[in-house]
Amino acid sequence: MPKFSCVCGQIINLSHGTSELEFSMVAERKIDELGAALADRWLSEEEFYQQIGASATAVYRCNKCERLHIDQGGGNFSSYIKEV
Ligand SMILES: [Zn+2]
Repeated sequence: MPKFSCVCGQIINLSHGTSELEFSMVAERKIDELGAALADRWLSEEEFYQQIGASATAVYRCNKCERLHIDQGGGNFSSYIKEV
């Protein structure tokens, strides 16, 4: 997905590799599990990224209105806007 359209009209460009507007939401439990695997030194860098990728939910942040768009799968996103 090279571009994402926010409801405010902003187009978020995701096509330049890793974007500062793109996040991976990972459960604390998974982070603890990966931390333990790194400490035990059985997890390679490649496996680390595979595990994170398989467990993460993509989150995009609009750089205009600061809404967060959370990937729900199947091309659907739930959007949240700052209240205060
Ligand atoms: Zn926006």
